[in-house]
Amino acid sequence: MNDRRREDQVLSSATFEQSAKQVKLMTCLICNGPATAIDADEDYLERACPKCGHYRITGAALVLIKAHGWHFDVELARKWIADNQASGMIPIIDSHQAPRLIDV
Ligand SMILES: [Zn+2]
Repeated sequence: MNDRRREDQVLSSATFEQSAKQVKLMTCLICNGPATAIDADEDYLERACPKCGHYRITGAALVLIKAHGWHFDVELARKWIADNQASGMIPIIDSHQAPRLIDV
């Protein structure tokens, strides 16, 4: 329960999505489509989007994106995720990677 509350706090501070009441159905942070929330802790959110793929994004990256009013370049982000999934790892979009994946 505490984990859920913590995630909601992170999400509301990022305001990328209305905090969904359903337990695991969330919004993709890249394309805003429906996505599954896999896991989250203090440092990152994790999403599995049927279109974008499976990725993690750090809280710092979300704060950075919101602070600048950035939006992801959906095609670019999907390509990056696909490329970085090839190694078998879950790609993590951090505050260094996020600026390279935005639509400017
Ligand atoms: Zn998506």
